Amino acid sequence: MASDTNPNVTPMMAQFLEIKSRYPDALLFYRMGDFYELFFDDAKAAAGALDIALTKRGKHLGEDIAMCGVPHHAADGYLLTLIRKGFKVAVCEQMEDPKEAKKRGSKSVVKRDVVRLVTPGTLTEDTLLNARHHNFLVAINEVRCSFAASWCDMSTGDFCVTSVPQVMIGSLLARLAPREVLVIQDDPSELSETIEEMGGTVTDLAKASFDSASATKRLTDLFKVASLEAFGTFKRVELGAMGAIVDYLSLTQRGKLPILRGPVRERTGGSMSIDAATRKNLELTRSMSGGREATLFSTMDRTITGGGARLLETRISNPSTDLTQITDRHDAVGYLVEKLSLLDVIREHLQKTPDMERALSRVSLDRAGPRDLAALRDGFAQAEQLSSALSGDTPDLIRSATGDLTGHEDLAELLTQALVSEPPLLARDGGFVASEYNEELREARSLRDEGRGVIAKMQAEFTELTGITALKIKHNNVLGYFIETPATHAAKMMAEPLSETFIHRQTTANAVRFTTVDLSSLESRIVNAGARALEIEKGIFADLCRSVMSSSREISQTAKALAEIDVSSAMAEIARSQNWVRPKVDQSRSFVISEGRHPVVEAALAKSGGDQFVPNDCDLSADGFPVWLLTGPNMAGKSTYLRQNALIAVMAQMGSFVPAASAHIGIVDQLFSRVGAADDLARGRSTFMVEMVETAAILNQAGENALVILDEIGRGTATYDGLSIAWATLEHLHDVNGCRSLFATHYHELTALSDRLEGLTNATVSVKEWEGEVVFLHQVKPGAADRSYGVQVARLAGLPDAVIARAKDVLSSLEAGEQEGSVKSNAILDGLPLFSAQQVKPQISSEPSLLDEKMKEILPDSLSPREALDLIYELKSLSQN
Ligand code: ATP
Repeated sequence: MASDTNPNVTPMMAQFLEIKSRYPDALLFYRMGDFYELFFDDAKAAAGALDIALTKRGKHLGEDIAMCGVPHHAADGYLLTLIRKGFKVAVCEQMEDPKEAKKRGSKSVVKRDVVRLVTPGTLTEDTLLNARHHNFLVAINEVRCSFAASWCDMSTGDFCVTSVPQVMIGSLLARLAPREVLVIQDDPSELSETIEEMGGTVTDLAKASFDSASATKRLTDLFKVASLEAFGTFKRVELGAMGAIVDYLSLTQRGKLPILRGPVRERTGGSMSIDAATRKNLELTRSMSGGREATLFSTMDRTITGGGARLLETRISNPSTDLTQITDRHDAVGYLVEKLSLLDVIREHLQKTPDMERALSRVSLDRAGPRDLAALRDGFAQAEQLSSALSGDTPDLIRSATGDLTGHEDLAELLTQALVSEPPLLARDGGFVASEYNEELREARSLRDEGRGVIAKMQAEFTELTGITALKIKHNNVLGYFIETPATHAAKMMAEPLSETFIHRQTTANAVRFTTVDLSSLESRIVNAGARALEIEKGIFADLCRSVMSSSREISQTAKALAEIDVSSAMAEIARSQNWVRPKVDQSRSFVISEGRHPVVEAALAKSGGDQFVPNDCDLSADGFPVWLLTGPNMAGKSTYLRQNALIAVMAQMGSFVPAASAHIGIVDQLFSRVGAADDLARGRSTFMVEMVETAAILNQAGENALVILDEIGRGTATYDGLSIAWATLEHLHDVNGCRSLFATHYHELTALSDRLEGLTNATVSVKEWEGEVVFLHQVKPGAADRSYGVQVARLAGLPDAVIARAKDVLSSLEAGEQEGSVKSNAILDGLPLFSAQQVKPQISSEPSLLDEKMKEILPDSLSPREALDLIYELKSLSQN
């Protein structure tokens, strides 16, 4: 693109280029009338991403200007697609009426400016957001090798900060799953790669944005406080991270800042540390494939409101290690589990409670519509009723939330009186303020809507005054409204006392026309009534928004309290319906689960109408046997069992009841879960390398209060290498880490270790063999498995008979070789019948199949389209039999 000083550049293009030069990394949505137009490379990129036509508009320095456009009223949908595809969009609006520009000369350009930079981490519109998930923007700062992260969800006002060791940044990011992460420009760390892998956008900011001195100023300004002390003491690195967030919000919102709650400093160690691989593996909020189905969150989520769902997700992602907090949450759930009818009442109110947090955020950014105000009004009403419903003697958590539900009586009253019951989405066209609320508005509307009626009324009054029944009020384009009487009454009208009121305008052949002061003012009021009504409504809207903003902190507290009540009641609801129990959580090192179940697998089995889930016990109590070695056939349920115990720990510490008959858990401060042999080709690491890197992380980090779940570690390499690594890992966990661990393996040789390692218990998942088939019982019991039944499972999976037969041969030779102490592969191969694979080749029948016969019968030219379709179905069913 060329410079805007070039005389060959049109004034409009010069304006475009100047604005665009300020937003080189964003697509510029340049408002022209009812469209946002994009030009040059922006147009090419957007046309491709949105699948819309690329056209051209005039020439720039001899070259066609590529252009595409999206209608202004449908811009949200296009924005969403662009944001999802990783673009940022600078929205440039017309800042004056084009008529104003015209006044400056026919060639002058309408003033335009960017009003907002739309980025993935700074969205507020319901259409662009998922109501049930947070939308976090994170900033990572570094000062002399110490790191801090700050994050906010500007659509809800949450704002937090924490110091974080460099190795834990990945794990924090995995927990927050941010849409956008701000990093220091030219940061050499591998952070950008990690963020992009998680599906977030990386935004580089200049070092100055992270400056701690400017941060203090930005934050004190934002929170309108003299010092930040009221929020706690922050390290320089933390201030810098928070400052970067505020700076970026101000940049993207063009100076308008959303309401953020005072920054919460997250205490290190206040929550269970769960790294990225463990989160993925346990499918807490995202499944392995990245979707949202079949996760712990999707299974547990019985919340009703958006705020409740977001809080539940936060709790699952971040289980607590604070015993008082955990106990408080359990008390709340326990209370509601017992109060069936109260629970129903609460949930009924929540059904009618809108998303107050997001409505409030839009109000703060001048992006609200009448429905946002109505959302607050309706929210207050439900909060008030909930508060009465919860007025009894409730546990601390509920009591304190209930206390935050009220105190908005005046604002609620104001909104109720001012707004119609179901206002339109946009303030633009008016029609949302109740007429009774404002006398002037009522008049303006009645003039606008009932102009004729008002005129008729005036005409009646004039008739009475003059005694002339033939008097009429009429309208034409020249005179506007006028009073007309037949010419015969002219003299009377023009004489005193009537001449004091009636002003002569015109005399025609048969009639005389007058006006009055009242009529002309009525006329101008009728003409302007529509515009006036709209103006009054807009004024009222602005006043209402101001009133809302003056209690923004309290409203935000109420929204949080509603979310808290929603989460407690959702957890009570699922605990009741799924028969979950209150776990006992304390500072011990217990881990005793009786009849535990995997909530997600159990729900999936119930949904498919398949088998009942088989509950299993687990006892890793530290003084006894903190490490369990689990062996068992393939498909027996080892992985399910391992994960269910990890999930029960997560659920207990997030404050939920758990799927078990009873559970006693000493607080777990670190949770690790690994599965052997998971590829990470995207990062250029082999299967085995990933497995080892992750195992190393556990062995180096797991402390005595950790819970470690290792599933088939060592399986990604040759048998003996794998066995040796698994062996040494198990010993290390037992002797050095000393933490509660569950270790599943197919290396049955490891079971021998229980003779030597005092704290190791062997457990196995039982199966029955019946007529050569394996029957899975899914029962975990003490002892060791004798074999893996891998060949039988392969048969169930549909491996060809020939391959199964051959595998059985190989297996018996290998087992025989092992018994004789000869494990050399050559020796084993020597013992196998040569070319036996060919000997057991499947017999291919020479008889023609039903499918062949049917095919022969077909005469394609004689088929109607309908018959052809039916035939396809028939052939398909034959081929499946
Ligand atoms: P592999 O060694 O092949 O990885 P595995 O022993 O880890 O297998 P899982 O993957 O845990 O086996 O379980 C296999 C299937 O068995 C699950 O998908 C589930 O449907 C079923 N299953 C597991 N545990 C239970 C249980 N306790 N009750 C009922 N069904 C279960």
